[in-house]
Amino acid sequence: MEMIYLDQAAGSFPKAPGVASAVCDCLEHGSSNINRSSHILSIRSELQVMAVREALADLFGCAGCEWILFTPGATQSINLILRGSLRPGDHVIISGMEHNAVFRTVVDLEKRGVSFSVVPCDCAGRLDLSAARSLFRPETRLVMMTHASNVSGTILDLPAMGELCQAQGVSFAVDAAQTAGHIPVSLGTLRADAICFAGHKGLMGPQGIGGIALSPGFARQLSPLITGGTGSASDSPEMPDTLPDRFEAGTSNLPGILGLGAALSFVRSVGLDALRSHEIALTARFLNALNGCPHIRLPGPKRAEDRVGVISVDFLRRDNGEVAAALEQNYGILTRCGLHCAPLAHHSLETFPQGTVRFSLGWFTSEEDISAAAAAVLALA
Ligand code: PLP
Repeated sequence: MEMIYLDQAAGSFPKAPGVASAVCDCLEHGSSNINRSSHILSIRSELQVMAVREALADLFGCAGCEWILFTPGATQSINLILRGSLRPGDHVIISGMEHNAVFRTVVDLEKRGVSFSVVPCDCAGRLDLSAARSLFRPETRLVMMTHASNVSGTILDLPAMGELCQAQGVSFAVDAAQTAGHIPVSLGTLRADAICFAGHKGLMGPQGIGGIALSPGFARQLSPLITGGTGSASDSPEMPDTLPDRFEAGTSNLPGILGLGAALSFVRSVGLDALRSHEIALTARFLNALNGCPHIRLPGPKRAEDRVGVISVDFLRRDNGEVAAALEQNYGILTRCGLHCAPLAHHSLETFPQGTVRFSLGWFTSEEDISAAAAAVLALA
């Protein structure tokens, strides 16, 4: 039985062409710790890393490559933004569609004197902007929100949220784990101060690499979470003020960064417009095939244009976990069931506690894959 991989929102597979060879090349043909030594291998690695930072700065509309930070992934990026900017007494606003990367972190920060409010979202995952307006307080320091839901694919109206933050003089940070590589994500368009991204999802790079695109003003307010060697200003007992060093103590994940660099070249060669058209066409095909089936619920927007390629199905007459197992065993279709590390989103979508079976697609998903998945859902429903 052929495998149909529809778990792209968890991690892309296959990876972009060139990723595996970039990782292997780095490991087999020499690489060295960047920013440390002055020999040829170190300088070559430094230049390669700089090129990847430049590609990311370009992708996210960042003022310069020094404001691109590498982290092991979106979770670490989000922790750096929340823990590095909020102090006891501060208030932060999040949405009702957050992943636990944001939700659990603000819950933990609450024990340390930071308060938080949640902007309600409707059962399609859309933000209630008028409710959001009423949540700002004098001590509100930050708004942090997911750009698109990892459960329903809903694209949140973050340009409007960014405008609201700007009017209130509050910093705005975006969790772009599900949108980078899918739709344009830019500091300027979103009026954002920070964009947190993962390299291994829509960007089609390796696991273990992600990062943050920062605005210079917000970067000045951020404290590092990790301290240690940077290869710069080593005479000082303090972390250097210069970026990205201030936030990148320790040895960088060079194979991951260079693998991500190859993935970015592929994303650029295909183009975001083509990636997005493919995603919309496949999402519409899946939604159209399932529409009208009385035994399932499809939380999220009806129009494919209003979501990324993530479609959750709630089977009304079956156990969702059993359905996911049957999809794999009987049809070779790999999905993810349960709460997707996003209980808050499932509450908003009214799919808590049963969760859903999530189908998520990518550039290498074909029309045939989607037709096979839709037929399997209808048969199992
Ligand atoms: N935020 C969202 C919306 C996600 O979907 C995920 C992962 O699924 C994360 C954050 C965490 O990303 P990572 O696994 O790269 O840390």
